Amino acid sequence: MVLCTIDVRENVSLAALTTFDVGGPARYFVEISTETEAVSALSFAREKGLDHLVLGGGSNVLISDEGFPGLVILNRIKGITVVEEGGKILATVGGGEDWQDFTDLCVASAWQGVECLAGIPGTVGASPIQNVGAYGQEVSQVIVRVRCLETATGKAVTFDNEECAFRYRESIFNAREVGKYIVLSVTFNLIKGGAPDVKYRELERRLSGIRSSTLVEVRDAVIAIRAEKGVLVRTGYESFKSAGSFFKNPVVTGAQFKNITAIVAGNGSSTWAWPLPNGDVKISAAYLIQCSGFDRGYCKGTVGISPYHTLILINGDGASAREIVDFAGEVQQRVMDRFGVLLHPEPRFVGFSPCPTEMWNTFN
Ligand SMILES: Cc1cc2nc3c(=O)[nH]c(=O)nc-3n(C[C@H](O)[C@H](O)[C@H](O)COP(=O)(O)OP(=O)(O)OC[C@H]3O[C@@H](n4cnc5c(N)ncnc54)[C@H](O)[C@@H]3O)c2cc1C
Repeated sequence: MVLCTIDVRENVSLAALTTFDVGGPARYFVEISTETEAVSALSFAREKGLDHLVLGGGSNVLISDEGFPGLVILNRIKGITVVEEGGKILATVGGGEDWQDFTDLCVASAWQGVECLAGIPGTVGASPIQNVGAYGQEVSQVIVRVRCLETATGKAVTFDNEECAFRYRESIFNAREVGKYIVLSVTFNLIKGGAPDVKYRELERRLSGIRSSTLVEVRDAVIAIRAEKGVLVRTGYESFKSAGSFFKNPVVTGAQFKNITAIVAGNGSSTWAWPLPNGDVKISAAYLIQCSGFDRGYCKGTVGISPYHTLILINGDGASAREIVDFAGEVQQRVMDRFGVLLHPEPRFVGFSPCPTEMWNTFN
């Protein structure tokens, strides 16, 4: 195993490295830009008996006020290699590349496959972790393989698409193998000159004046919708301190769905419920939250709900991680009381003991 010198710092504040802008310090902190540095960072953590946390853009984490007592590894491994085969583009992208830059590159190069995922903050290496998705696309539709370092051994391993076990906001990396791998690079299969993939109602409506839209038009429409909802973390746009959607959309059985429709009698379900082939129904978490008494713009001290989207919990100004967790717990409890549905959080909770999500999971 090749090791190299790495610049490990101590007691580094993490709040500014997250989009929630909360959280205490990392006991140890290192920024890596090569695979060898990643191996060396893992070796450092092993020698000191420390846990590690990989951080990309910090847009899907909630770090406790006490911080993280182990080694935070900030992934900045860059590089893009492109191979063209027939009309297909195989792009292998370093895990530390910026996701928005990558989607911009794809659109500018007329590579179809990620145009609806434009504007999602974070890094390429995090995109498979929760199988990022938006406006009718999921990244799992274009991922060929994910190259990782196994944290226990420091050895490189590659997972093909099937092995990643992608589902809605889920993969092996955030389900059964949490923390076991560092994503070094992701290989995407894109279609050169392909027509954009528009099947999301809101996006279709936005593009309705355009007969056959281009990738650029679709990307621009997605960016415009995101900007209006305050979920575009880009210079020059208004956004809130958040981790995007705080809860996943729950999936309920047909019988549970009947109960829910009875509770909200009179409200048609076409915009907040999506039947699945097996008879289950995916429900809009935002709708359940709204029907539980939390409107857009609701505030409780320094924490609240975005004025543009009920699913986005925000740090109004100067909130602590504890205040955000308590507020999220209150939202979750009210939805449980009203509908009997447990909302699962989307961001990863870091440095909490006990972890609030474990306490919340005891609801059912
Ligand atoms: C305003 C806003 C809008 C958003 N919109 C969407 C959306 O539309 N769709 C969507 O799916 N998500 C959305 N998100 C969530 C978030 O942007 C994505 O989940 C993104 O992929 C996280 O990337 P990151 O680099 O910031 O990850 P981080 O927040 O740094 O990390 C998230 C998790 O992934 C792990 N991780 C990160 N990088 C690696 C790596 N290289 N190897 C191993 N583990 C790693 C971390 O340990 C952590 O568990 C949004 C967030 C915000 C703030």
